[in-house]
Amino acid sequence: MSAKIIDGEAVASRIREQVKAAVEGMAQKHGICPGLATVLVGDNPASQQYVRMKQNRCKKVGIESFGHTLVAEASQEEVISLVRQLGEDTKVHGILVQLPLPGHMDEEAVLNTIPLHKDVDGFHPVNIGRLAMKNRKPLFIPCTPAGVIRLLEEAGAEFEGAEAVVLGRSNIVGMPVAMLLIHRNVTVTVCHSRTKDLPGVCRSADILVAAVGRPQMVKADWVKPGAFVIDVGSNRVEDSKAPKGYRWVGDVDFDEVKEVAGAITPSPGGVGPMTIAGLLQNTLRAAELAIDKLSIS
Ligand code: NDP
Repeated sequence: MSAKIIDGEAVASRIREQVKAAVEGMAQKHGICPGLATVLVGDNPASQQYVRMKQNRCKKVGIESFGHTLVAEASQEEVISLVRQLGEDTKVHGILVQLPLPGHMDEEAVLNTIPLHKDVDGFHPVNIGRLAMKNRKPLFIPCTPAGVIRLLEEAGAEFEGAEAVVLGRSNIVGMPVAMLLIHRNVTVTVCHSRTKDLPGVCRSADILVAAVGRPQMVKADWVKPGAFVIDVGSNRVEDSKAPKGYRWVGDVDFDEVKEVAGAITPSPGGVGPMTIAGLLQNTLRAAELAIDKLSIS
């Protein structure tokens, strides 16, 4: 059996079209253009590339972006002061602080400064706290985890009572994915670097989400036949035959696993495009919240 391939680019493209139409409608009805401020500290090439991609996508759907770059040696106070300024700026509806921040900064202290209604990445401790609680709603859900759930929905996964294994417990992927699954009445096991018998644990999963950052670690014999496999991993591996000398692979051995799984995301082309699409949706929502606030006051 060969798995159904879940096309993240196609789903993301639909989301982008919806956001674009809504942005146009907002301009006509309210004369307001959603605005996203990005804060990049330092010159990490991957972070620079992510921020550029986010800004380009904003432009294509009509969201205005305001880029701010600080040197790696900037003090935490400088970053916090910039974020506070952006918090007051009425043209800015969403604030994205590109992570990771340089080692001398307290990430939580910086994220805490983003006003809740502008926290389009969903990493503010209050938003994450609400996500971790039963019957509480965060204002924004982190984009990559939200993309994982949307792709499972698109593929027709049954959530109620299903068994899921999440490989990885990071704050930005593994933990929030686990919480979102629990909210959907899935029974979730979260694995990490100290988990014993990973293949055995994974084999119990109806839904398997891999977010470990280990190239092609998940093999066919780790996967229950018919399972839904979502590969969040994005790893650069050397390849002398590739034009650039490297290529990108996921945490799942796609060629092997697609013969066992019921549905699977490729990487690249699965979760990756969903992350930025989610950011656009969250920025639109932030602008809608600002309009609601204006009409109430
Ligand atoms: P982190 O490095 O923050 O977390 C990795 C997690 O995997 C940790 O919980 C770690 O365990 C666990 N882990 C690492 N090695 C093993 C192992 N051998 N066995 C079991 N568990 C292991 O990574 P991220 O969550 O930030 O990212 C994970 C992957 O997802 C990366 O490839 C990243 O590039 C990709 N990613 C993709 C995004 C997208 O938009 N598509 C967005 C964000 C990330 P422990 O906690 O014990 O250390």
